[in-house]
Amino acid sequence: MELRIQNLSKQYSNGVQALNNITLTIPAGMFGLLGPNGAGKSTLMRTLATLQDADSGTAHLDAIDIKTHKDEVRRMLGYLPQDFGLYPKVSAYDLLDHFAILKGLDNRKQRKEVVEGLLHQTNLFNVKTKHVGGFSGGMRQRFGIAQALLGNPKLIIVDEPTAGLDPEERVRFHNLLSDIGSEKIVILSTHIVEDVADLCNHMAVINQGSVILTGQPLQLIDQIQGKIWKRFIEKSELATYQSQYQVISSRLTSGRTLIHVYADNHPGDGFTQAQGNLEDVYFSAMATLLAQQTATSTSSARAA
Ligand code: ADP
Repeated sequence: MELRIQNLSKQYSNGVQALNNITLTIPAGMFGLLGPNGAGKSTLMRTLATLQDADSGTAHLDAIDIKTHKDEVRRMLGYLPQDFGLYPKVSAYDLLDHFAILKGLDNRKQRKEVVEGLLHQTNLFNVKTKHVGGFSGGMRQRFGIAQALLGNPKLIIVDEPTAGLDPEERVRFHNLLSDIGSEKIVILSTHIVEDVADLCNHMAVINQGSVILTGQPLQLIDQIQGKIWKRFIEKSELATYQSQYQVISSRLTSGRTLIHVYADNHPGDGFTQAQGNLEDVYFSAMATLLAQQTATSTSSARAA
């Protein structure tokens, strides 16, 4: 099973180029689509979920063209959108039962088994008679996964599912996702690096509608080993360091500013080598892109 995305582009009527020639191959397993807010993740997810069309390009789920065979794709699809709305005054059981009917599970006995099974799987069985309107953010998202799993989908798309969850619920949600099964394609769109680091065996980073990095998290981490350097600085020195080094991240740690720098060789006094992680991979990809864009705009300004 494979999802092949080729040269997808989408411009909204306000002129925003949300997707800019996206080409990606997504194999079975958990795939992390990582990028900052506004990168184009939801646009891509909605396109793959057959809810909107791209202007150009194609996406195929094995041999099925997503744009021309929407019904076929929908039968194989489970989707948890970013803004998943719930009817507040309905119980979890009744609402899931309702979604199951919409999914075509007509047989009452079978439907009961499926609904109860999913409520168990998502740890909501003991609150099945409670109104979903009273659910916490984590419970809502677990309910969202339960509805996405109805009908045993082969392609599961979850868009920013952990935003706003507390750490305990995030772990719970991660465990739930990791149990879904490696023979399905699960696309997890997120701006949280940890989500991808914890769960995904393949990933892509997108920014401003373009893929800027793709690969396997562990290999990408391997590739940056030996090139990430750290040191504590005064907060007031940050701009100076940014002008002299490729600073990929800065963060407050115990009240002090810790910077990570990307460099092939030891950058000099005060720096020690850091164990590179997926956050360094992500931030170095973003910093490299920014440096390229700055160089291009500077040279075009000079030319003008
Ligand atoms: P992400 O999910 O990565 O945050 P989106 O796909 O939501 O990114 O948005 C990509 C870009 O497209 C953003 O600049 C956003 O403001 C814009 N955008 C998204 N939806 C619409 C829309 N319906 N009309 C116009 N612009 C949109």
